[in-house]
Amino acid sequence: MVGSCLACELTSGAREPPGGAIHETEQWRVEHCVGPLGIGTLIVKPTRHVVHVADLTESEAAELGPLLRRAAQVISNLSSPSQVYVTLWSSGPVHIHWVVQPVTSDQETGACGPALQAAMFAAGAAVDPQEAARYAEQARAAWPR
Ligand SMILES: [Zn+2]
Repeated sequence: MVGSCLACELTSGAREPPGGAIHETEQWRVEHCVGPLGIGTLIVKPTRHVVHVADLTESEAAELGPLLRRAAQVISNLSSPSQVYVTLWSSGPVHIHWVVQPVTSDQETGACGPALQAAMFAAGAAVDPQEAARYAEQARAAWPR
């Protein structure tokens, strides 16, 4: 862990993501998002502190594509969204993390894409931690083996 990194704190157990880890390998961890991006939004992040995509190892990079696809599949099956956004959050720089977010066509009537995510953060509608924990449990059970 480096400094006060939220991603590392959630991985190490210093803080607990809603419902705990959904999927974990040696190199990657999937959790429910703690930010105001709605129920079913998952975070895919390296288990070690990495702030630049260029610093991922070959092995980490090889695992990433299939992992993002599986996360999107799990979300598609559980949430029936019109689209699943997959966005990289790294500005700061912070511990890189991919946000895998179910979005409905109703949500996209105003802003969409990064503008929708910015609007959701501006609105600051906190995710119900119990609902997020229930979703995490369902996602863990639905994760392909
Ligand atoms: Zn970190």
